[in-house]
Amino acid sequence: MIVSMQERATEEQIYAVIERMEEAGVDVHRTTGTVQTILAGVGPTANIDLSVFEVLPGVLNVLRISSPYKLAGRAFRPEGTVVEFPNGVKVGAEYVAVMAGPCAIENREQIFTIAACVKAAGAGFLRGGAFKPRSSPYAFQGLGIPGLQLMHEAAQEHGLLTVTEVMEIAQIESMLPYTDLFQVGARNMQNFNLLRELGLARKPVLLKRGISATLEELLLSAEYIMAGGNYDIILCERGIRTYETSTRNTMDISAIPVLHKLSHLPVVADPSHGTGRRDMVPPMAKAAVAAGADGILVEIHPNADKAASDAAQTLYLDQFEKLVGELRVIAKAVGRTL
Ligand code: PEP
Ligand code: MN
Repeated sequence: MIVSMQERATEEQIYAVIERMEEAGVDVHRTTGTVQTILAGVGPTANIDLSVFEVLPGVLNVLRISSPYKLAGRAFRPEGTVVEFPNGVKVGAEYVAVMAGPCAIENREQIFTIAACVKAAGAGFLRGGAFKPRSSPYAFQGLGIPGLQLMHEAAQEHGLLTVTEVMEIAQIESMLPYTDLFQVGARNMQNFNLLRELGLARKPVLLKRGISATLEELLLSAEYIMAGGNYDIILCERGIRTYETSTRNTMDISAIPVLHKLSHLPVVADPSHGTGRRDMVPPMAKAAVAAGADGILVEIHPNADKAASDAAQTLYLDQFEKLVGELRVIAKAVGRTL
């Protein structure tokens, strides 16, 4: 159930409603927007008499939410979520975030060169995998924590934020000092134990859509994290597996407006994994920004063809610089800033 409070509701009135909701046996999640406070009651609400809540002082209206995702759904925060980082960078609202870096952190020179380029392009986030989920157990698996330390150092030098993939619960604690945004990869979108644990983490989460996941399943995975109290989630469309073979995955641009309609969470697009082809990355990145994406995640490397992983979809640094310039024009055209 969702209880929308009146604009002028007092704290006492809000607390009184929370108390009544808890007495009725639901967990209460509170969000205070610019205009009003919204209280989401999660739990067995089917037999609760909503009219009891409608007449409480300060209540504007009460809705029974039939959607399976109560906290990730748009009704919980109608004005949208803006994920704010400690350095003031925001994802959501009018901003279009650019997150770029190699598929995998390979060595010091590689990540420092890339960090300088990411900064020069005006992007805010340096990405790079230290724990890599590879289809083959014989492929490069990433440098682990030492790699993450390198990326953190490079990011610090340029005032960038870091985003990197966490593959299992045991990695979370050791990654915390080096990451600003935990990426949950496509293969782990339904690793519910990992999601629950990230719900307790003190860092935002970039949640990628699974290879064959519906958007409802993606939002249910976001719900797992939010149910634990971590509301700082950024969704990521990264292509899905279809019968089409000319691209690695099929980039679902329509997922962007659909997710914005269903949910208040920011949506980022990853055209690198979405297409698997370097020549297809810029057109899909531009389409995503035009479709309202709150950010772009792209793989870049000074020696893209020789990248240790995902070489075919990795942009050269000059291609990335050119792309950001083009994205800036498109962002402006759709009323956003980049
Ligand atoms: C990645 O970002 O390098 C990655 C492995 O992404 P995905 O989980 O979308 O395949
Ligand atoms: Mn990759």
